[in-house]
Amino acid sequence: MHLARTAAVAALSAILLAGCAATPPPGAASSPRSATVASSSPSAARTTSADDAVDQVVAISIDGLNPDAIRKLGTAGTPALHRMLAEGAGTLNARTERELTRTLPNHTGMLTGRPVGGTAGHGVTFNEDNGSTLRKTTGHYVAGMFDVVHDRGGSTAFYSSKDKFDFLDRSWDGDHGAPDRVGADDGRDKLDRYVLDTEPANVTRLLARLRSKPDDVSFVHLAEPDTAGHASGFMSPAYLDAVRAADRQVGRILATVGGDPALRKHTTVVLTADHGGRGVSHDDPAKAFDYTVPFLAWGVGVARGADLYALNAGRRERPGTRRTSYAGTQPIRNGEVANLVTDLLDLPDVPGSVFNRTHLLVR
Ligand SMILES: [Zn+2]
Repeated sequence: MHLARTAAVAALSAILLAGCAATPPPGAASSPRSATVASSSPSAARTTSADDAVDQVVAISIDGLNPDAIRKLGTAGTPALHRMLAEGAGTLNARTERELTRTLPNHTGMLTGRPVGGTAGHGVTFNEDNGSTLRKTTGHYVAGMFDVVHDRGGSTAFYSSKDKFDFLDRSWDGDHGAPDRVGADDGRDKLDRYVLDTEPANVTRLLARLRSKPDDVSFVHLAEPDTAGHASGFMSPAYLDAVRAADRQVGRILATVGGDPALRKHTTVVLTADHGGRGVSHDDPAKAFDYTVPFLAWGVGVARGADLYALNAGRRERPGTRRTSYAGTQPIRNGEVANLVTDLLDLPDVPGSVFNRTHLLVR
C-alpha cells in the first residue's frame, strides 16, 4: 500500500503476471511508511500477493448471514451481495471457526486469524463482554489485524452494532494494547476509531470517512439478520427482511467506493459472516446451516465473477456440506479475513495467526 499511485497502477499488471512477487515494481516509490516496514520488520521480505494498488480495505461482517438467504432472495432482494459475487470473487461455502458458531468467538477469529481452541487459539469461548481482555483470557498478548496496520502507521476503525465487541476494543486499547515496537511509536491503542451505533449510522460515518480521509482498514459489523433471527427465526420472513436491510448498507458502501474514481482504484471490500442460522438458533457448530457462511471480495485487484475455490484450486478444499476439521487442506474460513486484509495492504501476517498464512488468492 501507499506506493505512488501512478507507479502502482502502471506496474499492477506486471506484478499480477508475476504472481506472488516479493520484489517491488521497478520505479515504484516507497512512502516513508513502507521504508519503515522494510528497515524494521523481519517479515517485510515475505512474499505478498500482488495488489499494490490497494490503499484501504473495508471488511464487513454480516452477523448471522446464512448463505441460503442470498440464494433465496436473489439479485432482486440482495443486489449488493450479488454485485459482489458478479463483479468480485466469492464463495457461499466458506466456514466458521470449527469449534463455535457464535458471534464473539468468530469475530475474534476474523480479526486475529486464529481458531478458538488449541495452543494457537484466541480462547474466546464466551459470547458476551465479560469485562476482560484477550491477554487475560489466554495468558499472553493476542495481536489482531489492527495491530499490524496501526504499528506501521496506518489508521484503523471498527464500526460495531453490538456492545459485546467492547471486549475486543478493550483488548487493544491504550491500556491493554501491546507497545508498538515497529518503526515509529504509534502507541498502544490499535483502534483509532471504535464506534458502537446502529448499522445505518455506522455506515454513514464510514462513508463520510471514506470520502474525506479513508482509514487503511475499516471493519464494519452489521447485526440486523442476527437480531431478527433471534426474534423471529432464522430464514423467517422477518429475517429475510433484515438480510435485505443489511444488503442495503453493503450497497451504500459499494456505491460510494464504486462511484469515486480515487476510491475505486484503491479500495478492496471483503465480506463474510460469523455464523449462519436456521429456525430458533445458530449455536450448533455441527450443523451446516450454522457453520456455512459467505466469503466475498470485491474491488481493486479482485477477479470478476470468480469462484474463490477455483482461484485457489489445490490450496483450499471445497468442503461440500461436511463439517471440516483443522487437519489437512482447509476450506475458506471467515478467520482468513485478518491475513487477507494485511496481505491486500502488503503488510506482514498477524503475529500468532494460523488462518490464511498461505494467502488466499482473490484474482
Ligand atoms: Zn446470534
